[in-house]
Amino acid sequence: MKQTTVHIIGAGLCGLTLAYLLKKKGIKSVVLEANNRIGGRIDTRYADKVGSIEMGATWCNDTHHQLLHLLQELNISYTKQYTTGVSFFETSNANEPQRFSIPDNEAPSYRIDGGTFQLIAALENNLDSGSIQLNEKVCQIKYDQSKIIIETTSGKQIEAGYVVSTLPPNLLVSTVQFEPDLPIDLTTTAQKTHTWMGESIKFGLVYEHPFWKEKGYSGTVFSHVNWVQEMYDHSTNDSTFYALKGFLNGGASTLTPEERRQKIEDQLQRILGDEVKNATHYFEKVWREDPYTFAPYASLIMAHQNNGHPIYTTPLFDNRFFISGSETAREHPGYMEGAIQAAHFCSTFF
Ligand SMILES: Cc1cc2nc3c(=O)[nH]c(=O)nc-3n(C[C@H](O)[C@H](O)[C@H](O)COP(=O)(O)OP(=O)(O)OC[C@H]3O[C@@H](n4cnc5c(N)ncnc54)[C@H](O)[C@@H]3O)c2cc1C
Repeated sequence: MKQTTVHIIGAGLCGLTLAYLLKKKGIKSVVLEANNRIGGRIDTRYADKVGSIEMGATWCNDTHHQLLHLLQELNISYTKQYTTGVSFFETSNANEPQRFSIPDNEAPSYRIDGGTFQLIAALENNLDSGSIQLNEKVCQIKYDQSKIIIETTSGKQIEAGYVVSTLPPNLLVSTVQFEPDLPIDLTTTAQKTHTWMGESIKFGLVYEHPFWKEKGYSGTVFSHVNWVQEMYDHSTNDSTFYALKGFLNGGASTLTPEERRQKIEDQLQRILGDEVKNATHYFEKVWREDPYTFAPYASLIMAHQNNGHPIYTTPLFDNRFFISGSETAREHPGYMEGAIQAAHFCSTFF
C-alpha cells in the first residue's frame, strides 16, 4: 500500500494501538476523537491521586496473549486480583447470603498496576505529538473518486486516503452518515452487533481502612436479588489505597446518583457491616448515558451478538475504509484483547 496518512476514528484502545503499530511500520496516522479525553471504554478515575478506580475495563487473564505482550513491551506491570477470604452470594432476600471461598488454584484475573489507563497513557506517549485530535466527532464519511472526505461536528472537512473506524459497529451506523450508503447487509449486521458492556453501570467506594479484609472477607459479593450484582476488592497491594468496586443491576439507571449510592450502601451494610457507610469517595458510571459508547439498538439483541462477525474483515470503498474496534475481532471480541487483536489485523492492510 502507498505511504499515506491513515485517519483513525476513535482514541480508545484499538485506535491508539493501531496508531502505535502503524508508527512502528513508519506510517503516519491521525486519530480523531469525539470526546475530550482518550481511552474510550477504558476510564480510570483517581481518588486523591493515591489510587485508581476503574469505571471501564479492568481485568485480563492468561488467554489474553496480545494484551499481555503489549503490557510487557510497554513495561507495564499487573497484579493478580485479590480474592482471599470469605466471599458472599445472595440468592434470596429471605435468607442470609451464602458464604464461599474462591480456590487459590482458580485461573487468575489480573489488574494493571496504577490503573488500566497506564496502557492508554503509554500508547499515547509513543505517538507523535499532535497526532491525536480531541473534541472531533466524526459525523459524515463521503467517498468519491479515490478520496474520502471526513466531516466532523466542529465543521472540519478532512480529505483522507485511508480511514479506519474503531467505533463499536452499532454506534458507527447509528451516528455517522455515509455517502454512498454502506452495503445493506453490513448496516443490518452492525445494527445487531452488541457493544460489550454498553449497558453496564459501575460503582466504586474508597475507604481509609480495608475493614472487609480485617474481618477475613475477600470483598467479593455476587447477588441475584439486589442492586449490587457483582463486586470485588479494588485495593492496591502496597497498603496505600483501599476500595471496593462493582456492577449494578441495569435497572439502577433510572435512579439518581444519590439513590444508587444509598441502595449500594444499604445492601452492602447487611453483608459486610456498618463500616460500609464510611466511604471517603464514591464513583459511578452509567455507560448507556455515554453517547460515545452506547446507541440504542433497533431490536432486542443478546450479549456479544455478532461480535467477531466475518463481515467486518472486508475493506470498503475500494479498500480505503476499514471497520475495526474490539467487537470486530475474531477472538476475544468485546474485550481489551479483542481491541488489540483488531488493531493488529487492521495494521496488516497497510
Ligand atoms: C464497564 C466496562 C467494563 C469492562 N471490563 C472489561 C474487562 O474487565 N476486561 C476487558 O478485557 N474488557 C473490558 N471491557 C471492554 C473494553 O473496555 C473494550 O473492549 C475496549 O476498551 C474497547 O476498545 P475500542 O478501542 O475497540 O473501543 P472504545 O473504547 O469504545 O473506543 C471507541 C472510541 O471512539 C470514540 N468515538 C465514538 N464516536 C465517535 C465519533 N463519532 N467520532 C470520533 N470518535 C468517536 C469514543 O469516544 C472512544 O474513545 C469493559 C468495558 C466496560 C464499558
